[in-house]
Amino acid sequence: MAAVSPARFVDCDRLWARHMALARFGAREDGGVDRPALSAVESDARGQLVTWARELGLSPFTDRMANLFLRLEGREANLAPVLAGSHIDSQPTGGKFDGAFGVLAALEAVQAIIASGERPFRPIEIVAWANEEGSRFAPGMPGSEVFTGRKTLEEAYASCDQAGILQGDAVRDVLRRDADVPLREFGFPVAAYVEPHIEQGPLLEAARVPIGIVTGIQGTRRYRVRVTGEAAHAGTALRAARRDALMAAVRMIAEIDRAARDPDDIKLTVGLFKVTPNAPSVVPSEVLFSIDLRHPENDIVDEMDREIRRIVETKRGPCDVDIRQIAHAPSLTFAREVRSLIAAAAASEGIRAMEIYSAAGHDSRQLHYVCQTGMIFIPCRGGISHNPAEWAEPQDIAAGAKVLANVIWQLAS
Ligand SMILES: [Zn+2]
Repeated sequence: MAAVSPARFVDCDRLWARHMALARFGAREDGGVDRPALSAVESDARGQLVTWARELGLSPFTDRMANLFLRLEGREANLAPVLAGSHIDSQPTGGKFDGAFGVLAALEAVQAIIASGERPFRPIEIVAWANEEGSRFAPGMPGSEVFTGRKTLEEAYASCDQAGILQGDAVRDVLRRDADVPLREFGFPVAAYVEPHIEQGPLLEAARVPIGIVTGIQGTRRYRVRVTGEAAHAGTALRAARRDALMAAVRMIAEIDRAARDPDDIKLTVGLFKVTPNAPSVVPSEVLFSIDLRHPENDIVDEMDREIRRIVETKRGPCDVDIRQIAHAPSLTFAREVRSLIAAAAASEGIRAMEIYSAAGHDSRQLHYVCQTGMIFIPCRGGISHNPAEWAEPQDIAAGAKVLANVIWQLAS
């Protein structure tokens, strides 16, 4: 069906110039970007996207989470659209490429399709999901979660930022500024979703390969462990009679660390550790610590989960222990069809590609529950991200947009 690829109409200079233009919204003096979700500055950046889209004859839409959609009509307007994009909010110390690349590559891909003179069978929509980062309103990704029905609007609206502003009020502010962008309902059928993103890791750069065919996203479990003992005098309390919460916690962590060494790609982090009363001459009465566990294979994450629960029980000694899992995101595998389309597109554009796993979460996690989904990674310098020094090379950005143009054209044909 798709005889000619629109990829040759991708304009590297135009795509780069748009990255630099978008980075001016929330620009930091050190070259980074600070563009909080649902803020005035993000709303201005969104306005810029809408302006570019209207120049191309695309129709903007939004919804009650302030997700932004820019639609290229298909020859069959009633068919479910193909979606491509990412997000435009950033961390406070963000860079120019995390999220922005996905949205701008999608815009460039659609512009290339228009320039080819062909019209897709299905509609194609560029999407910028609301609040991917979760740094202003936690947790992140409520835009794609509410869209896919994995979270209620009420739940998302109730999240509050540091200044006490409700996410629901911030959404309404953005929508008020965008009064001329029509509102749509959540959860309309989607034919496919493709998200281009910088890798945020060092593998593609090290391999000198511009395209990563993302096979899936690794699973995580996060815990809070509370060990309760009893405060006592450091000089007079007999060792045998002590209920020392810190010693118990240390025994647990040492044993969990040992267990997590096999296989050697289990990512286990204890990043939070609080001792009470935290006084030099008092036997600690309580310790609270976190565990962050990640691995691409659910079986390994689940096995480690059982190990952790067994270890805290066997190593608690005379103390009490309470382990609470606060987050669980299973590992996921992206649709085989989208992965093969990405591989074929890279090959036909003469761009090297390799399979890669995503160590970080993305909106594509939510979308993969409702439609065939895939991700395209490009290298970023030193694997640095969420940092003003974040950097992607113009030719890699263009390679990503070319592969995307080819892939969404096929998906929409
Ligand atoms: Zn991102």
